[in-house]
Amino acid sequence: MNKKNIVRELSKITSAVARAENRDEQVSNIVDAISSAIEVDVCSLYIVGDKGALSLLASHGLNRSHPITIPHGRGLVGHVVREKHAINLASAEDHPDYYYVEGSGEESFRSFCAVPLVDHGQVVGVLVVQSKEWGALDEEREAFLETLAFHLVIILRNYKLQKKHTKGQARVMGVSGAPGVVIATVKRVSTRSLDDVGHLLADDPLAEKENLSVLIDQFSAQIDADKKLFEKATHDEISTVYSAMQLFLNDPQFKGLIEGFIESGQNIPSALKSGMQHLVRLFEAMSDEYLRTKAEDVRYLCNRLYKLWLDSRSTSSAVAEGGSYIIVGKNIDISHLSAFSGNLLGVISSEGSALSHVSVIANALGVPALLGVAEVQLPEEGKQIILDGSAGFLIVNPSASLLSEYRSILDNEIRLASLFESVKHLPCETIDGESVELMVNTGLMSDISPGIEAGAAGVGLYRTEIPFLIRDSFPTEDEQVAVYSEVISAYKDKPVYMRTLDIGGDKQLSYFPMEEEQNPALGWRGIRFSLDNVSLLMTQIRAILRAAANHESLGILLPMVTRLAEIESFNGLLDEAIKQLQQEGVAVIRPKIGVMVEVPAAISQIPFWKDTIDFIAIGTNDLNQYLLAVDRNNHKVSYLFDNTHPAVIHEIARIARLASENQIAVCVCGEMASDPISVALLLGMGIRRLSLSSSKIMKVRYFIRHMDISRCEELLKSALTMDSPDAIRCLVEDYISTICPLNNDIVEGN
Ligand code: PEP
Ligand code: MG
Repeated sequence: MNKKNIVRELSKITSAVARAENRDEQVSNIVDAISSAIEVDVCSLYIVGDKGALSLLASHGLNRSHPITIPHGRGLVGHVVREKHAINLASAEDHPDYYYVEGSGEESFRSFCAVPLVDHGQVVGVLVVQSKEWGALDEEREAFLETLAFHLVIILRNYKLQKKHTKGQARVMGVSGAPGVVIATVKRVSTRSLDDVGHLLADDPLAEKENLSVLIDQFSAQIDADKKLFEKATHDEISTVYSAMQLFLNDPQFKGLIEGFIESGQNIPSALKSGMQHLVRLFEAMSDEYLRTKAEDVRYLCNRLYKLWLDSRSTSSAVAEGGSYIIVGKNIDISHLSAFSGNLLGVISSEGSALSHVSVIANALGVPALLGVAEVQLPEEGKQIILDGSAGFLIVNPSASLLSEYRSILDNEIRLASLFESVKHLPCETIDGESVELMVNTGLMSDISPGIEAGAAGVGLYRTEIPFLIRDSFPTEDEQVAVYSEVISAYKDKPVYMRTLDIGGDKQLSYFPMEEEQNPALGWRGIRFSLDNVSLLMTQIRAILRAAANHESLGILLPMVTRLAEIESFNGLLDEAIKQLQQEGVAVIRPKIGVMVEVPAAISQIPFWKDTIDFIAIGTNDLNQYLLAVDRNNHKVSYLFDNTHPAVIHEIARIARLASENQIAVCVCGEMASDPISVALLLGMGIRRLSLSSSKIMKVRYFIRHMDISRCEELLKSALTMDSPDAIRCLVEDYISTICPLNNDIVEGN
């Protein structure tokens, strides 16, 4: 079997898997396909169970009239698990570990080749092929099995997950969209899209046209209701998402186009799809960038109309009657959130990211959200689940003991919240009298009052990309001025640090499609994107300056800076913007300039940048992911993201030292600033300014008020001698628990 054949056979096996209707059929198709591809009499797939025993999952050639299980460590398959590498024997019986399974029919086979299936360093299964003839498998066929093993691991993983789902409780990981914990019942919502619709005919085009009018009216009314709901939660931000839809909806040409397709015989879904495709083609062909982005609006609008059409025909209501739910679906969008308003306890979706519209709204509504959950793992209708939006997972079928543990945690959280609330009006200073400034990270209008209420000393990080992300086109200069002014005027004489657009990587604008990059985290993002889109950046600088016309303590923060030239280019544009505005008669105060230290390259450059910048903000979310080479949103490696990793502690301590030596103000504005354990170490490093989300300010103030700087310095000193993240965490945790036990870690029990 040569390389070409390997690829061909692999693709045959993949299609055999795809044809299967369920996981059992999949594994059985696989073993059949393998035995035929490499011409062996037997192909078997064993799976490692909880206690290390191996169960035969599927076999081509062995007698499976009764279940076959090999005790832990026994037999040739046990040997492969133990040794973690393949064996290829001319005769199985001659091997000292040979173990005969009664009734399997194995006695008639001589040759034996087995490869381990390894997932995250653990053997999770074994693939075995056997033949009646004597003789080891040739090299090519053995290589084929080894290649196949990689693919089988993924199938096995899903298989195990599905089994776990149907049998007992399972922990399902996702990406945290909005924080909070909730225990509730699942409501599955339909997330079908026009992409699944074929060419369907209408019985009565006249009646179909009338139905279309009804749908359009209904949708119009729904938009008004949505706008009201979201305006309450997010001020005016989200209403802009709807303005484009409303424009289309009220445009007789849009309705006329869909009616045209209905008149040609199509039913509503078909006509909506044809209309959508026609308009999308039209917009995408336009040379004007702005108009090209309208294609996305059209897709959204037509799909919403389709969803309404589906709801109008469904016997079960899309809206919960009584009771409150966690809504679950493949692609939950804001329309689902509005349909369940008042009954919404949580959100789970396969699609979406931490910055998608759903996350923004869920955050604003205070509803936990979990996104990026594999479709196969979405919990079923009616299941009781625990959704932990903060930690980014859900638990299906939680045991009674786990439920009661979570309930007590929820009670505890209420108790802790009132404890933290008690220090709301007290100064943020340590026992030994050191003041620490707690600022707020924001980007949402809805964060303004909670930040002020929590006593934020200013805005340490205003993520300007958020107003960009929740719109359907680039906000104009005036629109940006309106948004920024609201924040700046709310914080009157307090410092406000506005970060220029941090787009790219995992933050994509729906209306500005970017070329796919192999390594988006290392690609066209942050200041690189802004400097390449200079007119966009100029508009933003002008808008920030105009919004801050009379504000003395404005800072502009630059994301993802790695070289001095980037800061200098920005400063050139800033000078130009100031000049333009002055010529236009606008009062301008030159802002302070700071950079995010969030790429390791920036660390050693701090002394070289000292004359060009006024302050730095340590972005530990990105910095730590680059230091550790770990994508936090990649479930295969996210467990390696660790804020107490010694490399992280050493590097942040170095930044703090360099900032102090060069007299540059420093603030920490990543997630580390809201974790009491990290906070103790940061205080030990001399950091006295933190910026965090409004919901964490009171908690962190509470802890800081019980901390002692000299103790924090000692802890840091010890931490810097340690080589293990766990050892550092335990060391500081011991101290933190003397202040207040943090009951966040839940041991999953049965
Ligand atoms: C960071 O990287 O830590 C940071 C604050 O920026 P963001 O999370 O917006 O990338
Ligand atoms: Mg960042």
